[in-house]
Amino acid sequence: MTSPIHCGRFAPSPTGPLHAGSLLAAFASWLSVRHQGGRWLLRVEDVDPPRTVPGAAQSQLALLRHMGLHPDGPVLWQSQREDAYQHALDALVASGQAFACHCSRSELAASGGIHHRCVARHSRPDPAIRLRVAPASVVSFGDTLRGPQQQDVHAEVGDFVLRRADGCWAYQMAVVVDDAAQGITEVVRGADLLDSTARQILLQRALGLPTPTYGHLPLLLGADGRKLSKSEAAQPVDEGDPMAVLRQLWQLLGQPAAALAGAATHADLLQRAAAAFDRSRVPLHDISSRQAHSSP
Ligand code: GLU
Repeated sequence: MTSPIHCGRFAPSPTGPLHAGSLLAAFASWLSVRHQGGRWLLRVEDVDPPRTVPGAAQSQLALLRHMGLHPDGPVLWQSQREDAYQHALDALVASGQAFACHCSRSELAASGGIHHRCVARHSRPDPAIRLRVAPASVVSFGDTLRGPQQQDVHAEVGDFVLRRADGCWAYQMAVVVDDAAQGITEVVRGADLLDSTARQILLQRALGLPTPTYGHLPLLLGADGRKLSKSEAAQPVDEGDPMAVLRQLWQLLGQPAAALAGAATHADLLQRAAAAFDRSRVPLHDISSRQAHSSP
């Protein structure tokens, strides 16, 4: 029996240019999988047309190329994955694990905001489809960076949306189907998605799909030490010298500058970084973009 090839990914939503926090996640996912000799793939999460900015995906991919972060296979575009999501949804509906929900936002808000049973007074032509989450659906997993995590999805989230009333696929549905389709065995991403992980694991179980490992990176704070504001988060990364940018990200990830000090070329720097990456050094608290200049 052969074990699956170790495979990581970076999956940006094309809602604007890549900001420093996203590039940090891209580099960390690349480092983690490359350190283990695995493959790294890219996926454009353009599943939400109202939020997709024309040209943003192309500029994100161009920046990753400029940084020397090249995928080991074709880029997967979620906008072309309709059939796969529909197939998965049909299976869940057929087995009674998913159901059409006519509840409006205000009806749900009036009943506590968490969906445990339908409270709709009228049926609508465009119901959302939700996953049924049974009582005491407690999901535990070991975060590769943060250690043991646990969430009671029934109590804290309730039945969650797989396809929205506007017909768009929910992020949770698309990400689970595509992580499996791309053979992803390791996810490394920002801590803002830690809260989604238990839902994704439940959905994998409902669909009979494997669960990758998950590691959640610290969030990058603005120079003032506060969470990146919307406008700061929208700032594109300075596309200048990729080696300088990578050295800075390296230090934000808690890695010693000395490991890359002797790198003469961009390729050499990436190779040294992949070899020396130590995930136990990645900080768990949010990090300020200022710290890059003061790290040893
Ligand atoms: N598309 C998501 C984002 O840009 C990331 C999804 C993921 O890594 O699971 O925030």
